[in-house]
Amino acid sequence: MMNEMSESKESLLITGQAGSRGIAVGDIYVIDTTIATVSPRQIEEDAVILHKQRFQNAKKELTDELVQMGRELNDRNSADIIEAQQQIVEDPEVEKKVYQIIEKKRLSVDFAVYQTFCEFIERLKESGSELFRQRIIDLEDIRDRLVRLVCDKREEQKAKEGSIIVTKEMSPTDLISYYENGIAGLVMEKGGVTSHAAIIAQSLGIPCVVSSKNALKAASEAKNAAIDGELGEVVFDPDSDTILRYRARQKALAADALQLKQQAEFETRDGFPFRLLANVEFEEEIDKAVESSPQGVGLLRTESLLFGRRFQKSFEEQVAFYTKMLKGIEGPATIRLFDVGGDKGSIRTNKEANPFLGWRGIRMLLDEREMLRKQLRAILKVAGSYPGRVKILVPMVSVIEEVGEIRKEMEQAQSDLLAGGINIDESVPLGLMVEVPSVALSAFEFAREVDFFSIGTNDLTQYTLAVDRGNEDICTLFQHYNPAVLKLIDMTHKAAREADIEVSVCGELAGLEIGAACIFGLGIHELSMNLHSIPRIKKLLSSYKKTDFEALGQDALRLTSAKEVQELFNDWKKR
Ligand code: PEP
Ligand code: MG
Repeated sequence: MMNEMSESKESLLITGQAGSRGIAVGDIYVIDTTIATVSPRQIEEDAVILHKQRFQNAKKELTDELVQMGRELNDRNSADIIEAQQQIVEDPEVEKKVYQIIEKKRLSVDFAVYQTFCEFIERLKESGSELFRQRIIDLEDIRDRLVRLVCDKREEQKAKEGSIIVTKEMSPTDLISYYENGIAGLVMEKGGVTSHAAIIAQSLGIPCVVSSKNALKAASEAKNAAIDGELGEVVFDPDSDTILRYRARQKALAADALQLKQQAEFETRDGFPFRLLANVEFEEEIDKAVESSPQGVGLLRTESLLFGRRFQKSFEEQVAFYTKMLKGIEGPATIRLFDVGGDKGSIRTNKEANPFLGWRGIRMLLDEREMLRKQLRAILKVAGSYPGRVKILVPMVSVIEEVGEIRKEMEQAQSDLLAGGINIDESVPLGLMVEVPSVALSAFEFAREVDFFSIGTNDLTQYTLAVDRGNEDICTLFQHYNPAVLKLIDMTHKAAREADIEVSVCGELAGLEIGAACIFGLGIHELSMNLHSIPRIKKLLSSYKKTDFEALGQDALRLTSAKEVQELFNDWKKR
């Protein structure tokens, strides 16, 4: 549904896209961290002192904040980063330059700060040094925070429990910390249904509406809101009838969820087994895992190890992370190598024109061999302690040569560990994400080189329909059950069966009723999804016979549009 606005007397309804199911009613908490383009603004001579004072105040506030953060951190590496940031803020060179711009050019303090840091950043970029790359990220971060402070646009640290956050977009790590504050819901102006924040919101059970254009403006004039994460609706300042309606639906959904969790068997009505696994990324998700009773981890995203605190965790910290995940959820665990790029951040500072078509996943890993080797060794070490449970998954493969390279690296990592006297599991399966159409189209050739496939429908949809998965302007084109995507899934499954390797689906499509029913109907009986979706999908798959799904899957392949697939599914369910 396209974004639209309609107004009644007191309340305002904004429709966006369904990000994560659920209802929330609460006070609004706006996070508007956008730094307006900082352009030069002339100031009067008698304002010079004031602008210099604003710089001093901002500097002091940021330093205090960093000191406090440094105290709270108990790992050495993070504390070092904070200390380095502190040194930058207090660097006399920075102050000198900022003052020069204010005094000599008579330009405002926000521009002076912005300009000063941009010049430093440019100099570091020109030096081309590896070591300085990290510093650039620090400088950009400090620049933005200082600009916000001098403009008095403070970032509040805590959202009140039960509040609904309205923001432009949010990183998964920020969402995790707001989740710990007990927020009730999230509304983002940007992002699509498979954007990273939406995926995490689903997993944590936070109702979320995405692609909600103009939400920030509406929020700035409202006090509270009611949101429906399934319909993608946000009502600002809802009247009492609306609140009653939303609360009633919230109650019904909670009762539904409870009943779904009591659902017994992982098998169809005629006794055919299926497997439902979890997609997880953060340790915080593990505590909630038991409620959904997944049969293992079908996708462990590992990017939080890189971006959580902006640097790659040490070998030991990686081992601890993987071990914690394996202990938290029983059964097999498919650990995906770093899938950097696209909307998941980059370790490079130069911007790419098309990041989703750029230096992503395996492409980055094969260029950053040390990072790849460290991760492989860490995973393989953990696999040695949990024999038979760990599988390794490679993201964003598009050409066959990449597979050979990664296999060599994996074998090398195994012999390094053995030489170091570390126990390994020699039969750790190596698999591919099927998320680029070239792999689905040549699936049989790829299948001969690996042990399993995991179909990533988020990216497969993005690359098949040429639609940026996070772009709110074209979100109606992001159709993961478009028959073209279903055909590629079908081809991949047939090739995997012919080559006798396992195949599962781990994109968000697997967590939608329509998707799970079609995928199962096409013959793929292992699905991995956000934790929250498991009880619902279990209920659906156990309510029909295997042949019912097969008929649906075959019928869907003969259609031409996502709308037709939706209608087919609606009719099928009514039968
Ligand atoms: C996918 O692309 O479908 C997938 C599961 O991976 P991610 O969403 O992390 O890109
Ligand atoms: Mg992907």
